[in-house]
Amino acid sequence: MLGGILFAALLAAALFSVSTGIALFVLGLLGYLVHHLRQMAALIRWLERGERGGIPRAYGAWDDIFYGLERLLRKQKRSTTKLSALLDRFEHAAQAIPDGIVMLNETDQIDWFNPAASRHFSLDDAADRGQFIGYLIRQAPFHEYLAGHDYSEPLIMKSPASRDVSLSVQLVPFGDKRKMLISRDITQIELIDSMRRDFVANVSHELRTPLTVVGGFLETFADMEHINQTDFRRYSDLMQQQTERMRMLVEDLLTLSRLESPQNRLQESAVNVPELAQSLFQDARSLSGENHQIQLFIECDRWVKGNPDELRSAFGNLVSNAVRYTPKGGSISLRWAVRGGEACFSVSDTGDGIEPQHIPRLTERFYRVDRGRSRETGGTGLGLAIVKHVLTRHQARLLVDSQVGKGSCFAACFPSSRVEEPPTD
Ligand code: ADP
Repeated sequence: MLGGILFAALLAAALFSVSTGIALFVLGLLGYLVHHLRQMAALIRWLERGERGGIPRAYGAWDDIFYGLERLLRKQKRSTTKLSALLDRFEHAAQAIPDGIVMLNETDQIDWFNPAASRHFSLDDAADRGQFIGYLIRQAPFHEYLAGHDYSEPLIMKSPASRDVSLSVQLVPFGDKRKMLISRDITQIELIDSMRRDFVANVSHELRTPLTVVGGFLETFADMEHINQTDFRRYSDLMQQQTERMRMLVEDLLTLSRLESPQNRLQESAVNVPELAQSLFQDARSLSGENHQIQLFIECDRWVKGNPDELRSAFGNLVSNAVRYTPKGGSISLRWAVRGGEACFSVSDTGDGIEPQHIPRLTERFYRVDRGRSRETGGTGLGLAIVKHVLTRHQARLLVDSQVGKGSCFAACFPSSRVEEPPTD
């Protein structure tokens, strides 16, 4: 009986301790779960707050996880900052590039463009992003170029923004079917190219005329069985005139090319302009052959810092033009004077004068108001181009004042920095 009671008591105790153990175990498990859930909730809150909050406090394995995550985030933040600085620099560089850049996606829609491209193609930042490039550049050659898939050579076209601007555009494929459209303003290059073509055409034309004349006479000589002395003298005089014309043209061309050569730096010395004016006065008298009244006014004793040969050639051209374009009986005056801070060598004449629309173009090569008159008097059409070059090299300017029927005044004016007192010795 006692054994039974003892057995029952032991069984009851055992049963009690097992259920308490389970209960304690369950309780412990629950506590552990709550801890993880709280840490997870803290992690979610922290992730939601993003960078603003610091790392939450954590225990055990969660501490390592939080710390690892924070390190990862910091690393990511550093590389994002680096990347955005790089992007900023790229964007600034692309904005400063004088060439236009348009980034196109795989269907040729605009992703991005720089300010130069906006100027070249009249693109609007807000409205044109995402647009098909062909809608915005509506020129047929560009559409053919875009569709052609051969982008090895650039396309020369007029800017959609202005017909006066010439562009060289080239597509550069990159990445996954993307393209970069690069544009360059070549207006100046085209202008220089067309000036070069005009110049060659003009020189050829100028040389062809005297060559044809000389060639014609030589053919005539070859066909003639006998030629009398008088005819021979007449023909040979005419041939000499033409060869002299060619020689003068070649001389002027060489002078211009020397003046334009970057290697030919200005060799300076002190130029006695009053003496130069005196010598040009004598030249004018002999050129005129007493056909004009010529006067000289030396109103100041200043010298000029410059190249004596170049100045003689420039002033000489002004003097010879006055003689050549002033009809017989007219007056010509040469003057060296100070005018409003500048020292000017001027040549005035009572010739026919020049209409105002021609004046800005007089210094262009081969520009003549009256082609026949220029040729008749042995002009090459390069005289005033030489004058302009010489004066530019001396920081001086050419002033032209002319009235039809009254006459002209051409003045070469030097800034005070080029003007000197005459030497005292
Ligand atoms: P050219 O050899 O033909 O004289 P220039 O370059 O010296 O060439 O002059 C250009 C043009 O300017 C001349 O063809 C002429 O029409 C005009 N010109 C120059 N000087 C005078 C002047 N003193 N009076 C009238 N026209 C002038």
